[in-house]
Amino acid sequence: MRHVAVVGSGPAGYYTAETLQKADDIAIDVIDRLPVPYGLIRTGVAPDHQSIKAVSRRYEGVALTDNVRFVGHVSVGSDVTIDELTQLYDAVVLATGAPNDRPLDIPGADLPGVIGSAAFVGWYNGHPDFADLDPPLDAPGVAVIGNGNVALDVARILAKTPGEFAGSDIVAHARDALAQSGVRHIHILGRRGPHQIAMTPKELGELGHLERASPRVDPADLPPEGDDAMLEPGMRKSVTHLRSFAANPVAKPVTIDFDFFAMPVAIEGNGRVQRVIVEKTELDAELRSHGTGETYAVEAGLVVSCIGYQTPPIPGVPYEHGRGRFASDEGRILPGLYAVGWARRGPSGTIGTNKPDGARIAEMLLEDIGRGAGKPGRAGLDALLASRDLTPVTFRDWRRIEEAEVQAAIAGAPREKFTSVEAMLAAIGR
Ligand code: NAP
Repeated sequence: MRHVAVVGSGPAGYYTAETLQKADDIAIDVIDRLPVPYGLIRTGVAPDHQSIKAVSRRYEGVALTDNVRFVGHVSVGSDVTIDELTQLYDAVVLATGAPNDRPLDIPGADLPGVIGSAAFVGWYNGHPDFADLDPPLDAPGVAVIGNGNVALDVARILAKTPGEFAGSDIVAHARDALAQSGVRHIHILGRRGPHQIAMTPKELGELGHLERASPRVDPADLPPEGDDAMLEPGMRKSVTHLRSFAANPVAKPVTIDFDFFAMPVAIEGNGRVQRVIVEKTELDAELRSHGTGETYAVEAGLVVSCIGYQTPPIPGVPYEHGRGRFASDEGRILPGLYAVGWARRGPSGTIGTNKPDGARIAEMLLEDIGRGAGKPGRAGLDALLASRDLTPVTFRDWRRIEEAEVQAAIAGAPREKFTSVEAMLAAIGR
C-alpha cells in the first residue's frame, strides 16, 4: 500500500487526489486546517459566481471514493509537523494555496481601513479568520488597487444592491453591512494601461450590467484601436469591454472609475484612511511603469489592495521569498515532499489550471514512490492525533455541516455559511 497526504483541500489538492485515486493500492488523506473542505472554492471564488463554485461537486466525487479521506480541522505546522507527515506517508503534497496578501509597501499602508484582498474576500465569503473584519463602508469613496480579476470581484461586490445578491451565498454579516453601505465612488487603480490588465472578459463584462453602478473609462487612456489586433483573443475581448465603457458612459448613482497609469504612492488619513495619493505613470519599452512626478488624490474611506497573494512559508520547507511560493523543481521540494497549485507556481491561472497541474504532480510522485516503503500512513496519523487528543472532522461530518448550512439558507440562496470554527463544530455536536 502507498500512502499519500495532500495538505489543503482546495482545487489543487482535490485535482491531485483525483489522479492519485485512480492508482492501485493507494490511500490518500486530504488534510485541511478548517473543518470544511474546498479552500478557495468556498472562501475565494465570489459568492455571486455560483456556477464556478459548482466545481466542488466534482471534488465531492473524489472525496467519496474509498481510497480518499478528508481529515479536517487538523493544522499542519501546529497539530502535526511536516517532518511527522513525511515519516508517516510515502509522499506529502503541499496544496496550501496562497492565502496571504502581498504586502502593499507604501507609506500609510498600515492605517485602519487599508485591507488586503485576502481579508476582504474572506470577510464576504465567511472565512472564519476574517469574519470580524468589519470593513469601513461609511465613506463614499473606495480605492481598489490592482488590475486583476480579484480587483473586479471586490469592486462588483461593493457596487451591488441587496437584490443583486439573490441566489448567491454571500454571508449574512456582509449582506447586512453592504446593504447599509455609503459607498458611491469606486476607483480601480491600475499602475499600467488598458493593454496590461489581468482581467478576463466575462468578469469585466459583468460591470456593464450592474443595477445601480456604471463603469467609467477615460477614452484618453485607451491606445489606438488598431493596436488591439496584436492582443491575444481573450485580452482583445476584455479591451473591447473597456472601449465600450469609454464610449457609452451611463449615469448611475454608483460609479466605478478605471484609473489607468495610476500608481498609489502613499495613503493618508487622520487615524484612518482618508485618501490615496496616486502618481501618474508612463510605460517604458518593456511595458514597466514609471512615475511621472504628477500626482493626484483619490478620496477613500476604504482601500482594498488586490495586488496578488503569497504562500505562507513553513519552517524547514525551502521557500522562494521573491516569488512567495515554495522552492521546488517542477513540484519536487525535497524527497517525499511536493508542491502543487498556487503553492508551487504562485497565484496565477484559473481554477481549471490546477487540473493538469494536479495530474502532473500526481503522476510524478507515483513514479517516485513506486510500490511504497511500507509506511504507516493513515493508521499512523490517527494514532498520532489521538495521542494529542485531536479528533479530525471527517467528510461525513462535513456533509452534516453542509446540510445545516443548506437548511439555514435564506430564500433563493444555496446556503448560509457558518463563519466560525466553533459554529461548524457545534453543527456536528462538538
Ligand atoms: P493578478 O491577476 O496577478 O493581478 C494583480 C494586479 O495587481 C496586477 O494588475 C498588477 O499589476 C497589480 N499590482 C501588483 N503589485 C502592485 C503594486 N505594488 N501596486 C499596484 N498594483 C500592483 O492577481 P489577482 O487579481 O489577485 O488574481 C489572482 C489569480 O486568481 C489570477 O490568476 C486571477 O485570474 C484569478 N482569479 C480569477 C477569477 C475568475 O476567473 N472569476 C476571480 C478572481 C481571481 P502589474 O500587471 O502592473 O504587475
